[in-house]
Amino acid sequence: MSTAFDLTDASAEFLAAPLRLTIDLGALADNWRDMARRSGKARTAAVVKADAYGLGIEDVGQTLYRAGARDFFVAVPSEGATLRPYAPEARIFVLSGIWPGMEEMFFENDLVPVIASEEQLTFWMSILAERGDYPCALQVDTGFNRLGLPLDDALALADDVSRPASFSPVLVLSHLACGDDPSSPMNRLQLESFRRVSTAFEGIDSSLSASAGTFLGPEYHFDLTRPGIALYGGEAVNGMKNPMRPVATAEARVLQVRDARVDEAVGYGAVSRLTRDSRLAIASVGYADGYLRSLSGRGVPLRDTGIAGGYGFIAGHRIPVIGRITMDLTIFDVTDLPRNAIAAGDYVELFGNNLPVDDVARAAGTIGYELLTGLGLRHERHYVEAL
Ligand SMILES: *Cc1c(COP(=O)(O)O)cnc(C)c1O
Repeated sequence: MSTAFDLTDASAEFLAAPLRLTIDLGALADNWRDMARRSGKARTAAVVKADAYGLGIEDVGQTLYRAGARDFFVAVPSEGATLRPYAPEARIFVLSGIWPGMEEMFFENDLVPVIASEEQLTFWMSILAERGDYPCALQVDTGFNRLGLPLDDALALADDVSRPASFSPVLVLSHLACGDDPSSPMNRLQLESFRRVSTAFEGIDSSLSASAGTFLGPEYHFDLTRPGIALYGGEAVNGMKNPMRPVATAEARVLQVRDARVDEAVGYGAVSRLTRDSRLAIASVGYADGYLRSLSGRGVPLRDTGIAGGYGFIAGHRIPVIGRITMDLTIFDVTDLPRNAIAAGDYVELFGNNLPVDDVARAAGTIGYELLTGLGLRHERHYVEAL
């Protein structure tokens, strides 16, 4: 498979860009519908924090809204403000909660804070005393030790008859630590704790699972699932064949193809010595674009662990990175390609339809989430419209 999407309506800027990112909005909408089907009776939210995992919160938000999503999660309020015009009737939850000075941003954009600590709860109660009824969500910690009220405090709050009537959470949520590992005993422990929370807050919607937890089965769905990475085509569960459609394809222009001789050195530190006469393709992408230095062929600490280096895809072939990745440029070894297969000006795929983002991430010693959210600012984006 080569470029499988339609570039006929791509802009001139995109077609000539040194770095291109194509986002398949049809695949995105399909992935949301797929997760909605897997969520059974539960509603399905869309997590669009970090600029929709690097793919653009405006276009992604609008596409998911049109597909039917009415619950969105962002990390910080400014993301919610950006999303609001694209998801007019949706509930937008802000996972980092609310702090003094942010109230107007929440009220003006109709954002729902996810109260995640004692301090935030106290502050929220003081706001309600002034302003009256306004929705919020409550995050409860069930074993992650990241954000959330401690379990016992949450259960006590549920039973507290003296709490103000204006305090009206619309959702209680918690987050799984090991949802990506179906065999982990943590999942069931957290499930049991969260059942107590859900029962204590009877009549209020509850939500436990992100992408990975949604695959653990109906017990984990409660009233609302919160997929993020699966919508963007990433792997949610370790060791499971990824059922999602790829959404993002990143490509870099080949600026030069050059011949080099056996025994010559390649790149910074001269850490790669050629063992044969070689052809090298110099591509317009580097670590400033989120093409992580740990993808280098040689000369970075990760290579000493035995994990192989990164590779790109061009003209039907996987081509290895050679030498150290630099800020703006990466060198690929194209010696094994037929002599006329590629030329300067062609594009090498960094990940996407032909190279799963998670395979590339593994070569970098990381996860697809980090590769997507770290894409940098130099990619020219092209959105393939959902039909
Ligand atoms: C990021 C996040 C999600 C989405 O997680 P994925 O693994 O990308 O599906 C859901 N819930 C919370 C609380 C999160 O922080």
